[in-house]
Amino acid sequence: MLKLNRRVAAIKPSATLAADARATELRAAGVDVIPLAAGEPDFDTPERIKEAARRALSAGKTKYTPVAGTRELKDAIRLKLKRDNHLDYEPAEIMASAGGKPAEYNLIASLFDEGDEVIVPTPAWVSFVAMIQLSGAAPKLAACPESTGFVLDPEQLREAIGPRTRGIMLNSPSNPTGAVYSAAQLGELARVLMEFPEVWVMSDDAYEHIAYAGRVPHIFELEPRLKRRGIVFNTLSKTYAMTGWRIGFAAGPREAIAAATRLQSQNSGNPNSIAQAAAVEALSGPQDEIATMAAEFRARRELVVERVRRLPGFSLPNVPAGAFYAFPNVSAMLKREYKGRPIGDGDRLASIILDEAQVAIVGGNDFGAPNHVRLSYATSREKLNQAFDRIERLAREIMR
Ligand code: PLP
Repeated sequence: MLKLNRRVAAIKPSATLAADARATELRAAGVDVIPLAAGEPDFDTPERIKEAARRALSAGKTKYTPVAGTRELKDAIRLKLKRDNHLDYEPAEIMASAGGKPAEYNLIASLFDEGDEVIVPTPAWVSFVAMIQLSGAAPKLAACPESTGFVLDPEQLREAIGPRTRGIMLNSPSNPTGAVYSAAQLGELARVLMEFPEVWVMSDDAYEHIAYAGRVPHIFELEPRLKRRGIVFNTLSKTYAMTGWRIGFAAGPREAIAAATRLQSQNSGNPNSIAQAAAVEALSGPQDEIATMAAEFRARRELVVERVRRLPGFSLPNVPAGAFYAFPNVSAMLKREYKGRPIGDGDRLASIILDEAQVAIVGGNDFGAPNHVRLSYATSREKLNQAFDRIERLAREIMR
């Protein structure tokens, strides 16, 4: 058998991308699959952003840029962090990357080592665990129960921190649960974290603008002393419907950013120059599209909550407060048999739903929640209704 790097051999492909790839394959074969798997807004990138890319292309901005991004992009990111999060950063405290993922990975790989532990409140986005493992550190999963809204409580945080803990990854609004920490909850976590100065506090804000109860102050705004050992991660993918452009960023103390930039200089170099110019416009131009998209996501959320709650075998006690995912509990259905054996876990249920109802969703296993499935509602209401009609028919049959 081919010998691979031990760490790479141990990681699985991203479950969300794999589910989406299978759906794409079936579609190519002529099957009418409704895709509710990928975490990708269905909106097109706003025209003003595309226009900025065309201008950059015409102006010949086709060369290497500084590894951590152009000065214009760093300034646009600083403007954004100030405007949206009330946080001040210097250009040397910012690194732009080819998407949120490499910004996160390059920081994680720069900060942590073998023997270190990094706390991941779960259910969590599939890539956090993989990125921590690739760095050589060990993810320490802190299970956040559905009964308390999938949020980490301060006592649980205190218990999870051990002598080897060097970091924690927060993600609010959360992929996959849609949970959003309130300012009070963040404040309590911050109070506990203040007792552990050796712990890096990382905040993944990818869905910050899709928070249905409005803006929540940033944890580093609530407790500015954490910012000295804090990293902000963000991406333009979700907020500006720019998943394919690949621009994300990290902001943090200059030594951490310098180390991650060194790593980035060796493994990928600068993010795409045209996409950087588009990102400058996205971040610094008029921000009205964000509210328009968020309003549409809110309308879809109402539809999805109502339809999921009607599905036999599914339960959704918490209304998702942000992002564009519903993460129903399907335990009741997992005990039922399908084709002679119990369904068992969320991953198998997702593949049954794909095969029998032609709707692509993601099983909860790799999010650390095998009794759940994740449905992305970044698709039109018409398609959502069609998808739920199909799932409902199948669910009735299984639960009969
Ligand atoms: N963080 C979270 C929580 C996400 O869900 C995603 C994408 O799904 C990302 C970061 C990274 O996004 P990208 O690499 O497309 O910028």
